[in-house]
Amino acid sequence: MDFELSETHRQLRDVLRDFCEKEVRPKAIAWDKEERFPTEIVPKLAELGLLGIRIPEEYGGAGMDMMSYAISVEELARVDGSLALTVASHNGLGTGHVLAFGNDEQKKKYLPKAASGEWLAAWGLTEPGSGSDASGLRTVARRDGDHWIIDGTKMFITQGSVGGFCVVLAKTAPEKRQKGITAFIVDHGTPGFRASKHLEKLGMRSSDTVELSFEGVRVHDSQRLGEVDRGFIDTLQILDKGRISIAALALGLGRGALELAISYSKDRKQFDKPISDFQAIQWMIADSKTELDAAALLVYRAAWLADQGRPFSREASMAKLYASEAATRVCNRSVQIHGGYGYTREYQVERHLRDAKLCEIGEGTSEVQRMVIARHVLGG
Ligand SMILES: Cc1cc2nc3c(=O)[nH]c(=O)nc-3n(C[C@H](O)[C@H](O)[C@H](O)COP(=O)(O)OP(=O)(O)OC[C@H]3O[C@@H](n4cnc5c(N)ncnc54)[C@H](O)[C@@H]3O)c2cc1C
Repeated sequence: MDFELSETHRQLRDVLRDFCEKEVRPKAIAWDKEERFPTEIVPKLAELGLLGIRIPEEYGGAGMDMMSYAISVEELARVDGSLALTVASHNGLGTGHVLAFGNDEQKKKYLPKAASGEWLAAWGLTEPGSGSDASGLRTVARRDGDHWIIDGTKMFITQGSVGGFCVVLAKTAPEKRQKGITAFIVDHGTPGFRASKHLEKLGMRSSDTVELSFEGVRVHDSQRLGEVDRGFIDTLQILDKGRISIAALALGLGRGALELAISYSKDRKQFDKPISDFQAIQWMIADSKTELDAAALLVYRAAWLADQGRPFSREASMAKLYASEAATRVCNRSVQIHGGYGYTREYQVERHLRDAKLCEIGEGTSEVQRMVIARHVLGG
């Protein structure tokens, strides 16, 4: 058993850490306050290979492994959760679906532009009436000769208004529930497809989250992604990989918050001593460090299993469940260590707490992860 990162993974982490400290940290508070998607950073993300992490080089991507994907998202989240969410959802969901289930034409059309940042990817599964029960979706796609007509509403879609395309899940055989759902790629600008509402959020404020509306959206059958009625089955695989990235995101948020708390505790003096001298503060730091190390082991194990081509669904859910709940605890303690200053928006740590909460909800809530894990453990 080897607990060390490889030289390649260490180098990747160092490059990204440097990039985040120089180009992201100075701006992250402002992006969050303005609730503005930072379009200007997209070319830089592409240059670093972060928009085509898993895309093979033949399609213009960086062709990196799952461990690299996890490390990349973790490093971004250490400084800015919203930017990490952009990278995680772009790579893992929209682009990931085209990569895993697209035909050669679709890969040639979408992957190079996704990797270059020309087209960010969105992915629409959730709807106003269906979240955890994702296969209960109501969006429909009706066949019309060589075309499909899509009608419905999608909720909470990341990159929904800034994306170049959206992979959308729609019912094609409503009576067959999970086995009657198909995926389609809808390009930005297709008539009838629009962002109907921008959502204001507790955290992840500079990530673009919108409600999407599809009104008589006509797409050619060549935009169908994967087999007819297989979309939901394919989606389960996409979500398994996505969960590793959300777990890594939580880990990064927790690590970033703990570093801020450690540094603050050494500077801040009360009762003529740095507060890091007080055992109450030391214990919060010790608990946080221990929980983050446990989370890291779960995240890296899930990524390692995926890279070995071995089953990782249960391990991805375990990593996401534990890392996201640990991150919220760690960020909460880190705010506590900052006292009143931690509660203000002058300091970065409150943003980590707000961002971390999303990791317990997005890509399957903690309750859903427990259901998945229990199903694996108990069978059936
Ligand atoms: C910032 C953000 C970005 C997102 N990005 C995307 C995206 O890009 N694409 C996309 O498709 N979706 C996206 N989502 C949606 C996200 O995946 C859903 O919010 C999530 O799956 C939960 O669904 P819901 O919000 O409808 O909650 P619900 O499913 O209504 O759940 C409400 C509560 O009930 C609990 N619950 C539900 N069913 C059960 C059960 N059987 N047993 C026990 N408890 C249960 C849940 O755990 C939760 O606590 C995003 C969400 C957010 C907030």
